[in-house]
Parts: sequence; C-alpha cells; structure tokens
Amino acid sequence: MQFRTYSIAMPTPFRGITRREGMVVEGAAGWAEFSPFLDYNPVESAPWLAAAIDSAERGWPASLRDHVAVNCTVPAVDPDEAARIVRASGCGTAKIKVAEKGQTLADDIARIEAVRDALGPRGKVRVDANGGWSVDEAVIAIAALESSANGLEYVEQPCASVEDLAAVRRRVDVLIAADESIRRAADPMRVVALEAADIAVLKVAPLGGVHACLQIAEQIGLPVVVSSAVETSIGLAAGLALAAALPELPYACGLATTSLLDGDVVASPLVPVDGYLPVGRQVFDEVAYDTVAADAETDARWQQRLQDVKAVLA
Ligand SMILES: [Mg+2]
Repeated sequence: MQFRTYSIAMPTPFRGITRREGMVVEGAAGWAEFSPFLDYNPVESAPWLAAAIDSAERGWPASLRDHVAVNCTVPAVDPDEAARIVRASGCGTAKIKVAEKGQTLADDIARIEAVRDALGPRGKVRVDANGGWSVDEAVIAIAALESSANGLEYVEQPCASVEDLAAVRRRVDVLIAADESIRRAADPMRVVALEAADIAVLKVAPLGGVHACLQIAEQIGLPVVVSSAVETSIGLAAGLALAAALPELPYACGLATTSLLDGDVVASPLVPVDGYLPVGRQVFDEVAYDTVAADAETDARWQQRLQDVKAVLA
C-alpha cells in the first residue's frame, strides 16, 4: 500500500493549526485517509491508522440514506466573517466555536448574533467550547449565549472533564454534547455512567474506524452527531458512511469542513448543496493532489510516522 502525503493550507487557523497534513492510501475497498494531528503521539495515532486500514481494506456497512444533513462550521472569527461563512454554506445549522483563548464572552455573543441573523429564525445554532470553560463559567456563558442565539440546539464539550460536563448538565436546560470526552478518553462509556451528555459526537478516525464507531454508537445509546477531524474529502467520506449507517440520525453532522482547507486530493471536493452532502466513496485525483502534495521533507516525516504507528498496531 502506497501512502501519499499531502500538506494543505488552512485560511483560518483551527485548533491553532494553519496547515493540515496527512496521508491517503488506496486499498482493496477504496481510498482512505490517515491524518492524526501533528501533536498526537504514535499510541494516540494508532486508532487513526486502524480506521484508515478499515476503510481501505474492509469497506463500509450498508447505507440507510444517500445524503446526510450537515452543519457549517464557524471558527472564532469576527461577526462579519461569521455571517459570510453561514450565508456561503447554504446550511440550515451552524456550529460556532466559542471560548477561544484570548477572546471574551462578548466576542462569542457578537459572533452568535451575527450567525443567528444570517441563518434566520428557523436555522439551528450550536456552539463548541472545546472544554474551554470551568463549570461556573459554562453556566454563565450558556445562559448568555442561549439568549443571544434565541435558542441553542446544544452545547458541545463546555468543560474538559467528564465530571464537569455532568455538573454543567445538571445546572442548565440546554442539551450537552460530548466530543473530546469520548474521542480522547480511555473509556468513552464514562460519559454514559456519569450521565454527562445528551448527545455523543463521534469521529471516525480517532475512534478506530466506521465499524468501531457503529459499535460505540450502539453501546453508548445516545443520539450521535458524526463530525470530521478536518480531513480531505477522502477522510470525510468515511464519516458520511458512518452517518449513513446509523439507525437514527436526528441532528445535522459536522462533516462540511472542506471550506477550512485550501485544497483537496479529489477532483470535486465535498461541498454541501442545500445543507446536504452525498454518501459514497471519494476517489483520489492526481491533478488535484499535485497542488497539495507534500514536499520531500514532510513526506519523509510522515512515512516515518506511519512506521512508528504501524509498530504500535502490530
Ligand atoms: Mg468538538
């Protein structure tokens, strides 16, 4: 299996990164992606490789739907840019980054008001704090944001720990979604044991693949929102395969993230049309790849990384 390394610029920094790097590979079942974030060590990266091998070699479970509703993602940008992103996306649901380091609650409120304005009264607004608040901060912020958004669909990962998520959930009426508490936790089921969330955010790559995620969804027994790890369209297609295979899919998924990348490895990147993305395999395109192919040094670093992660899986 030949892994090809890409390096794609990100117009707006996300998770503090300005370039997305990763590898794509073709197996018997189709193309797959291996793109653990750069700060992930080989042990943390192992599920990402398991997910890539699963997609490349084993194929995906049967689809129950051929399109999946998706939300647009609004990074911690100013209000004008936030409104522009929402309008350009055509999505009826927006996920807004809040609690960004170096910003204030007033920044979040201004961004949310602009998004609500752009979405109209029927649109759905959800926020993601990426664990940035304490319990008390979360309770205050959620009340303020709920009122400026005129209703929040849910709040994702208000605090970092499962205990704090549970505490916030007991003090607010808004639904709580767990993301990092599932994806980076030793035991995703603690969220259930502590009744810490109403919704589970599942990401295919960090959780070991489409089949592994289907199993987690079954065990966890909560409504699932499938989200991306800001992959290329090849990685996103695996998320869409999971979303398409879930028996229930009550919320829009966080898979419309190609807008965060300045390039792709397929000829027609996955861009939502009227708020939906199509389900199906994405195929590597040599011409598209030429514009985002990693230089020799980056490729060498990733080939080494791949070997290190393979050693963990072996
Ligand atoms: Mg999240």
